[in-house]
Amino acid sequence: MKNNRFASYGYGLAFLFLFLHTISGDVIYSVPEEMKRGSVIGNIAKDLGLGLGQLSSRKARIDLEDNNVQHCDINLNTGDLVVQERIDREGLCGKKASCVLKQELVLENPLELHRVNIRVLDVNDNSPQFNEDLLKLEIQESADKGERFLLGEAHDGDISENAVQSYTLQQNEHFKLNVNTKPGGRKYCELVLDKELDREDKKDIMLSLTAYDGGTPQRSGTVVIHVTVLDANDNVPVFSQTVYKASVPENSPLDTLVITSLSNPVPENVSPGTEVGIINVQDRDSEQNGQVHCSIQQNIPFKLVPSIKNYYSLVTTGQLDRELVSDYNITIIATDEGSPPLSSSKSIHLSVADINDNPPVFEEQSYSAYVSENNKAGSTLCSVSARDPDWRQNGTVIYSLLASEVNRSPVSSYVSINGDTGVIHAVRSFDYEHLRSFKVHVMARDNGSPPLSSNVSVSVFISDVNDNSPQILYPSPEGNSFMTELVPKAAHGGSVVSKVIAVDADSGQNAWLSYHIVKSTDPGLFTIGLHSGEIRTQRDISESDSMKQNLIVAVKDNGQPPLSATCSMYLLISDNLAEVPELKDISYDEKNSKLTSYLIIALVSVSTFFLTFIIIVLGVRFCRRRKPRLLFDGAVAIPSAYLPPNYADVDGTGTLCSTYNYDAYLTTGSRTSDFKFVSSYNDNTLPADQTLRKSPSDFADELHDSFDPLEVSNSFQI
Ligand code: CA
Ligand code: CA
Ligand code: CA
Ligand code: CA
Ligand code: CA
Ligand code: CA
Ligand code: CA
Ligand code: CA
Repeated sequence: MKNNRFASYGYGLAFLFLFLHTISGDVIYSVPEEMKRGSVIGNIAKDLGLGLGQLSSRKARIDLEDNNVQHCDINLNTGDLVVQERIDREGLCGKKASCVLKQELVLENPLELHRVNIRVLDVNDNSPQFNEDLLKLEIQESADKGERFLLGEAHDGDISENAVQSYTLQQNEHFKLNVNTKPGGRKYCELVLDKELDREDKKDIMLSLTAYDGGTPQRSGTVVIHVTVLDANDNVPVFSQTVYKASVPENSPLDTLVITSLSNPVPENVSPGTEVGIINVQDRDSEQNGQVHCSIQQNIPFKLVPSIKNYYSLVTTGQLDRELVSDYNITIIATDEGSPPLSSSKSIHLSVADINDNPPVFEEQSYSAYVSENNKAGSTLCSVSARDPDWRQNGTVIYSLLASEVNRSPVSSYVSINGDTGVIHAVRSFDYEHLRSFKVHVMARDNGSPPLSSNVSVSVFISDVNDNSPQILYPSPEGNSFMTELVPKAAHGGSVVSKVIAVDADSGQNAWLSYHIVKSTDPGLFTIGLHSGEIRTQRDISESDSMKQNLIVAVKDNGQPPLSATCSMYLLISDNLAEVPELKDISYDEKNSKLTSYLIIALVSVSTFFLTFIIIVLGVRFCRRRKPRLLFDGAVAIPSAYLPPNYADVDGTGTLCSTYNYDAYLTTGSRTSDFKFVSSYNDNTLPADQTLRKSPSDFADELHDSFDPLEVSNSFQI
């Protein structure tokens, strides 16, 4: 009967057992928790030795010792103690190791009390449980290996073996699990860092932690651990790439992107604000630790302008000038906002490309060259030099002559210039008597595109060389038509009797003339003014003096070496030309004589017979002697044939003009000690009132008083 009752329990026999104790009328039963209602705990009538009949008659019942729930009751018909209410050990006793329900069996007639104790046994009906489904942990990436992080514990309502016995952690590369036991026996666990974290590599780690109890069957509970790796500022900002954007001066499209490259420099003429490069900087850290600021040094004409994200534009802030600074070393410093901040730097070498922005500049404002006349063609006159600070062909200077004319000829027929060296050469031999100075213009041009240039003037001064002998205007230096001067017999010592007139085409000392008598018939009779050329008597003429006096006069300039010319002067001491009949032939102008002769011959030959008769008749009737020609006329008249070509022009004012208006050193006679005429033979030097009015007949009377060559020329034009 007892065996059958056991069989009716919902729990297996192996699990179910009963203890019966009779201690002074008390009974104790041990039952597992959570038995179904109506399950038999034990036969209390039998265990107390009571007849079944007594139970009803004596009103047997279960009383609560305290006013708790009545968990069991007695079946009066069978005497069984059965489960009346759910018996939950965890609910009744929690974590107490022993759990006993205390009740009393009450019998009346006579009143009897029996204590009934029911020991409730634990069943593994609770799984280990964590407080949350998700456990969040934040760990610095800088955490050291071996560092521990408390995870807490899982709870299980059951006790002893049925409570939490172990934990397991999902396999992972960073963490191990360490399980500890508290003094009360509860187990808790902690994560141990087994390998360092790197937020930049993995910033979230998900792990599952499982707790197991020791019951049979075993129960478990799981929690997910979410590890967030916190950033530490352990990354330096890095320049990932440096991209230069440069406009290459020639033959490349604008905005060409070229790559940290030095062969594509920035043209010096880019306007301020031009973007010349793009810099990218990256910091793998997060938030502040990854916030990067870039800066460059202050003393350069560049700045960094933040662009999108981690890009910066390198922009010019001022005008570049390659001639001042041709290269820049730009140091870019990138700093993050971490604490402490980390930084790195990068240097960029930037070259400035040349633009042809400088014209060549001559070292002098103007140049002068001095050369003696009669120079050799090809001789060096001077050299010019211009500087151009630009680079290569932009700074290469080429010299050339600007087209112009000198004396109506192209300048290139006078000088040439070496295009590379700037040395100026004479192309021809210069003649001071024709050209004293001229000016040429030289251009210096660079080889840029387009080229720049500047000009300078070069004055060429030609200096005189004594290359012209004195030219004697009067008397004719040639011997073929000599002049004869008439000297009155009554002439006193010191009287001017004639004058030698000479010019010199040179200038200065080269044209300063001096006169000397080199030979004379009577050396004591005549003298000549050293610079005036005036011939004077040294003493009174005496009867014993020879009628015909010849002088040979040398005219010498003052050049180095001096040049000279000579002429002959014929003087006749007489008061009457008729006294010297033999002079007729001498005075007869040779050319005129010939011409007359030819005419006479022609007339005679044509009219011989016709005229013969008349001549004979008239010859008889008018035979008389022809009056001799006055030699004096010839003496004062200087025929144009005696003038040199350059001095031949005699104009209406009586001025003898030099073609080139030379500075000529001329003698001016006894009236003035000056001997230099700026312009030879001009109106100012003519004493016109004394000369122009004079007739040839008057002239002879005053000859000895004022014999002036200028007067001579004036008298000649009458
Ligand atoms: Ca359990
Ligand atoms: Ca339990
Ligand atoms: Ca970091
Ligand atoms: Ca950082
Ligand atoms: Ca330049
Ligand atoms: Ca230049
Ligand atoms: Ca001379
Ligand atoms: Ca000369």
